[in-house]
Amino acid sequence: MFNLILFGPPGAGKGTQSERLIAQYQLAHISTGDLLRAERKAGTELGEQANEYIAKGELVPDAVVIGMVRNYIVDHREASGFIFDGFPRTVAQAEALDSMLHEFDARIDAVLGLEVEEDELVKRLLLRGQSSGRADDQDEATIRNRFQEYMNKTLPLQSFYSEQNKYHGVEGMGEIESIFDSLCQQIDRVRS
Ligand code: AMP
Repeated sequence: MFNLILFGPPGAGKGTQSERLIAQYQLAHISTGDLLRAERKAGTELGEQANEYIAKGELVPDAVVIGMVRNYIVDHREASGFIFDGFPRTVAQAEALDSMLHEFDARIDAVLGLEVEEDELVKRLLLRGQSSGRADDQDEATIRNRFQEYMNKTLPLQSFYSEQNKYHGVEGMGEIESIFDSLCQQIDRVRS
């Protein structure tokens, strides 16, 4: 199994790059944001509860997200590996992920962090909001709140994974294709 975390703030390009990476490396894709939006669309209680946090730009409680990821991994245990996109977002989630993977005799092999300046992120999110219809991409105050959550709760994961020599920063500004090439180079280096 090869397991990769695509790390970075909201709007860094994790979804766009994940789509390409899963095609290139035949990995299963876990986007907790997508899973939560699917729950909402299906009208489940979990989806309704999660939406209260999403709408404010706050993180959904760890237990909810961890449970969802566990189910996904169990359902896809035959996969040759996973790309985690938007998960983990807290140290508690990262620790839970380590023990889940341990059950499958697997681990996180690499964490690739897309590095993008904040002004560019706001621009990208507002633009995405126009086409995606995502309410949390349309309001600048919600976007700023998501960054705040990222700084306070998610950024500490950078040291968490750096201490394990798993974190690699990748320039996330510029052309989608050249960012993809840089990600592939890093992955190929880790895998070889
Ligand atoms: P995303 O699509 O990754 O930008 O996520 C959209 C929203 O879903 C976030 O702003 C959070 O409210 C929620 N969310 C997604 N992933 C997580 C996670 N791993 N932990 C907590 N909340 C999450």
